[in-house]
Amino acid sequence: MSDSLPLSFDLDRADRPHEECGIMGIFGPVLDVARLTFFGLYTLQHRGQESAGIVTCDGQTAYIHKGMGLVSQVFNEDNLRPLKGFLAIGHNRYSTTGGSHLRNAQPYLVETIYGPLSVAHNGNLTNALELRRKLLERGVGLSSTTDTEVIIQLLAAPPEEIAKDAEPANGLDRWQARIRALMHVAEGAYSLTILTHNAIYAARDPNGLRPLCLGKMNGGLVVASESCAFSAIGATFLREVEPGEIIKLDKNGVTSIQAVPPRPRSLCVFEYVYFARPDTLMEGQTVHDVRQRLGRQLAREAPVAADIVVGVPDSAIPAAIGYSAESGIPFSEGLIKNRYIGRTFIQPDDHLRKQGAHLKYNPLSSNLQGKRVILIDDSIVRGNTSGPLVRLLREGGATEVHLRVSSPPVRHPCFMGVDMATYKELIAHKYDIEGIRQIIGADSLDYLSLSGMISAVQEAITRPDRGHCAACFSGQYPVRIPKWLFEDERDKLVFEEVWGS
Ligand code: SF4
Repeated sequence: MSDSLPLSFDLDRADRPHEECGIMGIFGPVLDVARLTFFGLYTLQHRGQESAGIVTCDGQTAYIHKGMGLVSQVFNEDNLRPLKGFLAIGHNRYSTTGGSHLRNAQPYLVETIYGPLSVAHNGNLTNALELRRKLLERGVGLSSTTDTEVIIQLLAAPPEEIAKDAEPANGLDRWQARIRALMHVAEGAYSLTILTHNAIYAARDPNGLRPLCLGKMNGGLVVASESCAFSAIGATFLREVEPGEIIKLDKNGVTSIQAVPPRPRSLCVFEYVYFARPDTLMEGQTVHDVRQRLGRQLAREAPVAADIVVGVPDSAIPAAIGYSAESGIPFSEGLIKNRYIGRTFIQPDDHLRKQGAHLKYNPLSSNLQGKRVILIDDSIVRGNTSGPLVRLLREGGATEVHLRVSSPPVRHPCFMGVDMATYKELIAHKYDIEGIRQIIGADSLDYLSLSGMISAVQEAITRPDRGHCAACFSGQYPVRIPKWLFEDERDKLVFEEVWGS
């Protein structure tokens, strides 16, 4: 490892490992599971671009390789080849600035009395600090600042040590009992893939905040954050892992238990707005279809006279197509994206974010010259990208630029695993819509309403208990959020003390 661990830090103010990650898990006795996991992670690259890792197991020994960078930078034939076995889990990770270190890269791997145990995690435990303190009081040493290490250390302990009131583990195997005990004490968002010496387990928090789905392929079973990973490796989608469910993949096939009662369903609505790949299937609908409906609803709610509709590539293109279809105003390409630069939303530094918009897009003048443009974006978080985009369109010849956003104003941070910035950084927390319009320099600005977004997302979902987290828009969090997490100044101090400013 090339980076150094801070010698000490204040537990009360440990860093917040906010991340939006991609996870995989494969059971395949006749498959090259490492290679398949590599290609699955490659497809999930949009979920995390700072580190990647794979752990495999041959029934006795576990093999690991992980590193900083894109999946294609971390892996090559030479380091994939030694990853032997019939079980694999993989992870790619995005973290906030403070957590961008190799020691925080996943999957985590430890040796237990029952053989290797490895965990890949997407989400964020809101009570990680309390759980971390309990582990340290028990004498468990921790080597990183992530909640994933807390999870793996809790799983390494017998269930009665994890949850004092753990029910008897009748009929459950050792790991099912431990995962269930973990789910009794963990709060917040978690989708997990877990590797042991003879099985892959997958679990999802009782609110279903982060996605996780199950697929099958010739000779194997697979779990992944998004169904798009299945197509890449020749697997087919079977179903989503249910909130509160543990599934086990081994020689007996798929075993399922409802480990904890599900709570009101709260899949992150931002998966539809921005994160997930458009070809991913969630809740019976493709993300692309939902984004088109968001655009249609936006056109109904926020019409404006113009000549063309332009979407910010790539994530806002479906919404722009929807807006165009609903309004009758032609869709046109107006911004050309350099596809080999990462998404500006996930660049960690403010200065880089501002540069990012210029590096990332070029205006297509032949389409823009003399036109009144409706620019569709999927969201505005800090507001650093919108102003440069409006200026680019004007430089390209647009006579008017009307910005329409296919989600409501982001006014609240996310504590469930997404880097949504702090209150101080959120432009919609500091300014009203007119204030934001003036800052970004658009001729007009409007957002989709909260009710409009929810109805567009849920329109095609048939199950009666549908529900989504929209806390970054509404401030209504689906899980308990410890008060200290809201204190911006304290968050800043934590960051500076632990990681340096
Ligand atoms: S607060 Fe926003 S980003 Fe976080 S889980 Fe909820 S909808 Fe998703």
